[in-house]
Amino acid sequence: MLTNAIKGVKDILPEDVRRWRKVESAARDIFAVYGFSEIRTPIIENTVLFARSIGATSDIVEKEMYAFKDHGGDEITLRPEGTAGVVRAYIEHKLYAKNPVTKLFYAGQMFRRERPQAGRLRQFHQTGAEVLGASEPSVDVEVLAMLSDLFKTLGIKGVELQINSLGCADCRPKYREALKAYLMKRYEQMCPDCQRRIETNPLRALDCKSEHCKAATSYAPAMADYLDDGCRGHFAKVKEGLDDLGIAYAVNPRMVRGLDYYSRTTFEMVAVDKAGAQNAVAAGGRYDGLVEELGGPATPGIGFAIGMERLILMLPDEGEAVSGPALFIAAIGDEAGCLAQKLAHDLRKSGVWVELDYSGASLKSQMKKADRLGSRNVLIIGGDELAKGAAVLRNMQTKEQADVLIEGLADRLIKRLV
Ligand code: ATP
Ligand code: MG
Repeated sequence: MLTNAIKGVKDILPEDVRRWRKVESAARDIFAVYGFSEIRTPIIENTVLFARSIGATSDIVEKEMYAFKDHGGDEITLRPEGTAGVVRAYIEHKLYAKNPVTKLFYAGQMFRRERPQAGRLRQFHQTGAEVLGASEPSVDVEVLAMLSDLFKTLGIKGVELQINSLGCADCRPKYREALKAYLMKRYEQMCPDCQRRIETNPLRALDCKSEHCKAATSYAPAMADYLDDGCRGHFAKVKEGLDDLGIAYAVNPRMVRGLDYYSRTTFEMVAVDKAGAQNAVAAGGRYDGLVEELGGPATPGIGFAIGMERLILMLPDEGEAVSGPALFIAAIGDEAGCLAQKLAHDLRKSGVWVELDYSGASLKSQMKKADRLGSRNVLIIGGDELAKGAAVLRNMQTKEQADVLIEGLADRLIKRLV
């Protein structure tokens, strides 16, 4: 117990963090050129926020939330996704009053109590972006362009951008009824979850991973045939915009998304060689009713969240070269040790990566250590050298070495190594 992390949560060890930072910094760079600012919201929120925004009949709220009563009796939930908190903050701080259009991104841990497996954790990370205050299809195109740019920049192959339209509060109810009638006729073939969903949330039957439900719904009515003029026009413009920018996509008429707040454009970045579950690397959509639903002024919105663990699994292997320190100081004896520490301190203040030996080991073993660290240079300071007021600087690549004067050495090394 003491030496095992909780089921479904993972340590990210130093050798993995390099890949994480690469993805995080690529995302930051791309979000910046699209004009998105970072927002950091708390990991805990009032439970009611998620119940209201994600939807009481969603998988997340029904069975995946880490919700608890704290010692003061408050109902608290560890955030299962990022949009609800961002929209809550947007309303609370009246960000809508500052700018007509607000573009935000976030990155951080999310929590869902799911069955742990590859690509499905209980604590995982999402990086996401939201645009609030703009309903035009060109905004959907821009958000999708940004997402595609990121995947391209990272060299990720084998993903497909799938899009769909879920209609709006005017046209979706008619579709819902048609789908419900269709599903009722196939009640016996469906899994118990979907049998229940026919009443509560029939669209989710289209997203069910059970083979029976997939078969039963294969000829189900499609939302595309029920879109009203406004929604149909919006969807057409999104597709046109993507075509104009040369962004490849496929329309997936069965994509419904598990969260209740979506309207009109929805999308997923899907790993094409992985069938079924855990194949969505990023997902999002438009949520034009959410801000109002949470008590803010009627404000359209659109956003996505990238599942970072799944994205990182797809990164091409670059056999990343690890660079070592610029200098290792091998010091023999106490006096040399003090000098080494002082030198290292001066060099580090100037941004030079310096490593030292702490053990007072032999020169041979210190050289071995420098080698293991991949240090580019070694400065050797021993008793003999000290007496001469000199040290030996060895280039570990060329194996050349030269005597260097200790007087003023820090400044000369800084010039050389920075
Ligand atoms: P799925 O169908 O895989 O359950 P979802 O619809 O629940 O996905 P979203 O809520 O849309 O997922 O979250 C966006 C992305 O976050 C997903 O596409 C996925 O990459 C990632 N994600 C969601 N749940 C998990 C999890 N438990 N572990 C790791 N990544 C996850
Ligand atoms: Mg899920």
